[in-house]
Amino acid sequence: MIVILKEHPNPKQLDNLKAWLTSMGLKIHESDGVNHQILGLVGDTSRVDIDLIQALDIVEDVKRIQEPYKNANRKFHPRDTVVTVGDTRIGGGHFAVIAGPCSVESEEQIVGIAKAVKAAGATLLRGGAFKPRTSPYAFQGLRATGIELLLEAKRETGLPIVTEIMDLSQLNLFEDVDVIQVGARNMQNFEMLKELGHLHKPILLKRGLANTLQELLMSAEYIMSGGDCEVILCERGIRTFENYTRNTMDVSAIPALHTLTHLPVIADPSHATGRSAMVRPMALAAVAAGADGLIIEVHNDPQHALCDGPQSQTPEEFAGTMEKIKQVRKLLFDGNGGVE
Ligand code: PEP
Ligand code: MN
Repeated sequence: MIVILKEHPNPKQLDNLKAWLTSMGLKIHESDGVNHQILGLVGDTSRVDIDLIQALDIVEDVKRIQEPYKNANRKFHPRDTVVTVGDTRIGGGHFAVIAGPCSVESEEQIVGIAKAVKAAGATLLRGGAFKPRTSPYAFQGLRATGIELLLEAKRETGLPIVTEIMDLSQLNLFEDVDVIQVGARNMQNFEMLKELGHLHKPILLKRGLANTLQELLMSAEYIMSGGDCEVILCERGIRTFENYTRNTMDVSAIPALHTLTHLPVIADPSHATGRSAMVRPMALAAVAAGADGLIIEVHNDPQHALCDGPQSQTPEEFAGTMEKIKQVRKLLFDGNGGVE
């Protein structure tokens, strides 16, 4: 339920209203609409008498929210959420590119790629330390050492790091990680989502392989109900009958999510296509559809990569993609094409 207040509400009456709502066990989420302040009520609102609230001097309107996601709902929070990571902002017109290898393989590899993607304009470094692989015989990641090496690359380049957690038992290793990624396979690991919500750290939440947008938003709601509002959503392709591409990139998810939620939405053209030659066109499609950022896999030697080589761009290809991204953003969004 949302309570839309009249302009300049009497502060004492507003305090009374908030105290009354809180006494009914409701949590209040305050935000600013275009002209009006909004109180979003989270909890069991079935006992709340709408007519009683509507009759108050300070209240313009009261509406029930039909969707099961409340904190993530744009009706609750009309303005775009901007997530800040170091000097980078994502959302609300701020565009960011996360780039790096699928997996951290060695110090030389991660530091070299970090320097190359930074030079091309990426503002965050990705790299998997814990890898969710279909086969138990495939490279599983360098685990704790991988995180150490990412931190070394951060020290050398200043780029904040994004890496995936696969299980809560790994959480103590993520203290210095800037953005914790929840991968597609863990999108509905509800116990993990609840715990991550208490951290107050940006979370990159990837859409599950066969999950609807509402399910993705309910997973964001799990994190946000713990108090953490810094969730970045990621469209990374979904399962369809098509198997030429690794997944099918649902570009329409980007404008749809922007309507449904205030959270930033980024796209992952690498996992969506599984083919390096398709990464640039799909990155540009996502930019044109209004994505707030991209996550792109880059490897110095894709042919010998321990994971996801076929979908990885070389640093040179990535630099070319960055140039095109800037051109498309400049053309369509009338800005300076800036990537923050
Ligand atoms: C990844 O980013 O390396 C990854 C495993 O992604 P996803 O969870 O989208 O498959
Ligand atoms: Mn990968």
